[in-house]
Amino acid sequence: MPLPAHLTHRHGELHFEDVSLERLAREHGTPLFVYSRAAMLQSLAAYQRGLAGRSHLICYAMKANSSLAILQTLVNAGCGLDIVSGGELERALAAGCAPERIVFSGVGKTRAEMRRALDAGIGCFNVESRGELDVLDEVARSMGRRARVSIRVNPDVDAKTHPYISTGLKDNKFGIAHGEVLLTYRHAAACAGLEVVGIDCHIGSQITEAAPYLDAMDRVLDLVAAIEVDGLRLHHLDFGGGLGIDYNGDTPPAADTLWPRLLAKLDARGYGDRTVMIEPGRSIVGNAGVCLTEVLYTKPGEHKNFLIVDAAMNDLPRPAMYEAYHRIEPVRARENERPAVWDVVGPVCESGDWLGRERTLAVHPGDLLAVLSAGAYCMSMASNYNTRGRAAEVLVDGARATSIRRRESPADQMRLEMPLA
Ligand SMILES: *Cc1c(COP(=O)(O)O)cnc(C)c1O
Repeated sequence: MPLPAHLTHRHGELHFEDVSLERLAREHGTPLFVYSRAAMLQSLAAYQRGLAGRSHLICYAMKANSSLAILQTLVNAGCGLDIVSGGELERALAAGCAPERIVFSGVGKTRAEMRRALDAGIGCFNVESRGELDVLDEVARSMGRRARVSIRVNPDVDAKTHPYISTGLKDNKFGIAHGEVLLTYRHAAACAGLEVVGIDCHIGSQITEAAPYLDAMDRVLDLVAAIEVDGLRLHHLDFGGGLGIDYNGDTPPAADTLWPRLLAKLDARGYGDRTVMIEPGRSIVGNAGVCLTEVLYTKPGEHKNFLIVDAAMNDLPRPAMYEAYHRIEPVRARENERPAVWDVVGPVCESGDWLGRERTLAVHPGDLLAVLSAGAYCMSMASNYNTRGRAAEVLVDGARATSIRRRESPADQMRLEMPLA
């Protein structure tokens, strides 16, 4: 199977762009996340091509990977940011994102988060419930401000993805139910603290077909037509994120073929003049990252062979959380050895601590493995379980490698605690 873009074998050794991954592991230790700037910008460019010639804003969903250097790279390449917490707002501002290019999503915004976001002057709140709308109205009025809002609608389409990452069906917690949208808009339009500027939806994640997007767009445009009968005009239409990546032979549509199809529909239905917003996360960074890990022990058994590596569920939680598949490749292949079948597991004291099951690999203790497609929802989901420090991160650009996060030490982890005297 072909490797993700900018990953190559050179002289039997895995490289990201022009940098040897073995060299990086030696210099920075493991587990280590390595990202390719070119891969990230290439994914972004596909969206930029797909939306070229349109009034549009691509707000990278930073929960996928919120490391500052990643944000800076994308903001400098023209992205706005989609945030889901006050913490992400501070990161977005620290990365130099213009506040008006920030949209604030999420079902549980607190009053304090709303105040801070209004103070900063963010572009739009994507409101997810009637209760939130009223609280935002009250907070904005108390500050003598008007909050720009878009209402997240739940189009009730099946994104055909894992139930934990599907968000557009009526039985989940996200968005305003289709049937309540009109009343909610009418209510929002009457709130003195709110300025209604858009509509948004986000139907799920790791979507690998075009149909759910086309369906969702139809459903959203039906709503826009109904909303605008009341005289309201929506300045922007935000279609969320969710486009999948190739983890293991998945074939999602490319952003630069999907978007022309969606825009054709938009034009055909008479909404081609609106600003289009999108919030891609995974599809920008997912295949732009790998996690390097060292094999600590081989533990052959009667029924199963275990490969114990130094990365774990705290570094890379997707397999444990969603039974997600990540390809695992040796950094330097052992060409002349017979491979065995291994479960690749971490050192954490949980049976759920695995990175890959039944993988055919020829490896010895001390060998390095690369867990592929580790750019999204890995580092940003990392924890300190078992008092494991979070991994270091390196950004590769051509032949240059820049350290963008040092490894977390036990002292870093204990810094906020107050031991008893
Ligand atoms: C998570 C999320 C995204 C990004 O989803 P991806 O699958 O990473 O593209 C976009 N918008 C909202 C509201 C989200 O919650």
